[in-house]
Amino acid sequence: MVRIDLHTHSTESDGTDSPSRLVAEAARAGLDVVALTDHDTTRGWAEASEAAPAHGVTLVRGIEISCVSDGVSIHLLGYLHDPEHAPLRAELERARHSRGDRARRIVEALGADTGLTWPDVVEQVGDGATIGRPHIADALVARGVVTDRDHAFRHYLYDGSPYYRSHYAIDAIEAVRLVRQAGGVPVMAHPFAAKRGRIVADAVVEAMADAGLAGLEAHHLDHTDEQVARATALARRLGLLVTGSSDYHGDGKVNRLAERTTSRDVFEAIVEQASGVSLVGP
Ligand code: AMP
Ligand code: ZN
Ligand code: FE
Ligand code: FE
Repeated sequence: MVRIDLHTHSTESDGTDSPSRLVAEAARAGLDVVALTDHDTTRGWAEASEAAPAHGVTLVRGIEISCVSDGVSIHLLGYLHDPEHAPLRAELERARHSRGDRARRIVEALGADTGLTWPDVVEQVGDGATIGRPHIADALVARGVVTDRDHAFRHYLYDGSPYYRSHYAIDAIEAVRLVRQAGGVPVMAHPFAAKRGRIVADAVVEAMADAGLAGLEAHHLDHTDEQVARATALARRLGLLVTGSSDYHGDGKVNRLAERTTSRDVFEAIVEQASGVSLVGP
């Protein structure tokens, strides 16, 4: 049996394991294949690629792109794209820059009520990593305002909170096109996870499929059984692949590596469609 987990985060975004540690943990969890999919960055690829052969793990170089459709946030996983593709790179840089501004604005809003300062947050972010709300959560934990990330999200950082601010994100259809142009394979992450915030109508997924979407991550901790069924049925209707993955963030979330997996057939179909970069094998 081959165990395949196609959605994880390292310290290059809001995970708590370094890329090499993440690969080691993947091996320990019994995975044969793991994808590194940090938010809006490929900075972790080099370190993870170096670690993969020694741990006997096949690495899928990937990304999770912050997108938007009619004001609804969408996360698009991209696999094996060319990281040098200029238009995609430019979009990712723009998103990361905007995330920095947005984090400052959230901290400004939180400062009056919690005493949180910008240096508190900077301390929690890896050098050059993509900043996100989890780093602000970590700073609130360090200050003793909350006990953990989840507590911070439930009290201060949830979508629609008075402290919430948004950042620039690329339109989801455009992102699908760019990932394909870069030789990558786009898969929509946790498409119907309503617990995370507003979700899109089936018609939006259909439009993404028309633009080149390859699959739906139906199996995800944030999906109820009904949402898994909805994603699976929609994938069947639209001829899309169905994936399952952990969305591991190290100690930052309860999600454990390999708790959900993708079938070998689907993994091979993804690799078959990719032309940007290759797998890094043991
Ligand atoms: P951002 O990218 O800044 O909008 O923050 C969203 C990120 O926060 C996602 O990657 C989630 O994994 C993470 N997140 C959302 N809710 C929670 C939570 N309750 N506990 C820990 N992490 C969370
Ligand atoms: Zn995250
Ligand atoms: Fe996500
Ligand atoms: Fe994720």
